[in-house]
Amino acid sequence: MARHCRSPGCTAEATQYGAYCTSHKSTLRRHGDADQRGITKADLKAPLRAIRGRIERNSGNPVWGQSEGRWREVVGHARAVLARQGAGSAYARQAASETVKLAEAVEAREIMATAFAVYLMADQQPRRFLSDTAFRVQLVRRLRGLTEANAGTWFDHKTGRTKRVYRELPPQAAGVMGEWIAKAFGAVGLFLARMDREQREAAALKADADRVKMAEALEALQ
Ligand SMILES: [Zn+2]
Repeated sequence: MARHCRSPGCTAEATQYGAYCTSHKSTLRRHGDADQRGITKADLKAPLRAIRGRIERNSGNPVWGQSEGRWREVVGHARAVLARQGAGSAYARQAASETVKLAEAVEAREIMATAFAVYLMADQQPRRFLSDTAFRVQLVRRLRGLTEANAGTWFDHKTGRTKRVYRELPPQAAGVMGEWIAKAFGAVGLFLARMDREQREAAALKADADRVKMAEALEALQ
């Protein structure tokens, strides 16, 4: 008897040995969860603006340089994995190679701001990330998206346009790379996200208090 795909609401048949249909299986591989929608560059626009503002307002604070330093440590580790033949699993080597590619193509500051923006978005819209794995995979995707190196191009004769094809990283390699990125930026990313939330909540409380005062003032009018 045919089994249905495990994704809620999906009526397609599951693949012979898997829990999901081919479409959900491919989403699982690509996005870290069978129902995870990819976080786009556009999704990240507002959080990234908030992070850039925070960095600018605190440009003299050493935490940015320290975070970049942590990233450089991760890159150093990745280079060491690549330099030693046979070091690390095939996935770790793939993660290392992608990490070095990213570091060579994009400024540490840009990588840092983007990573922090993903943490901020996860705090603001937790339902957009279906699991920890999905979060890490999206983090990796957004950072890899900063480089052109992982986008192959091909010419579409029908539309007469050059199209870009994002080169997928196997989920296990993305998992390793996500762990490294989280090691570099996770603690500060979570701190900044919490700080942003607390400041927004305080501003909302103040706006409420102002409204109450105004209501009282209106009631006192004769
Ligand atoms: Zn399905």
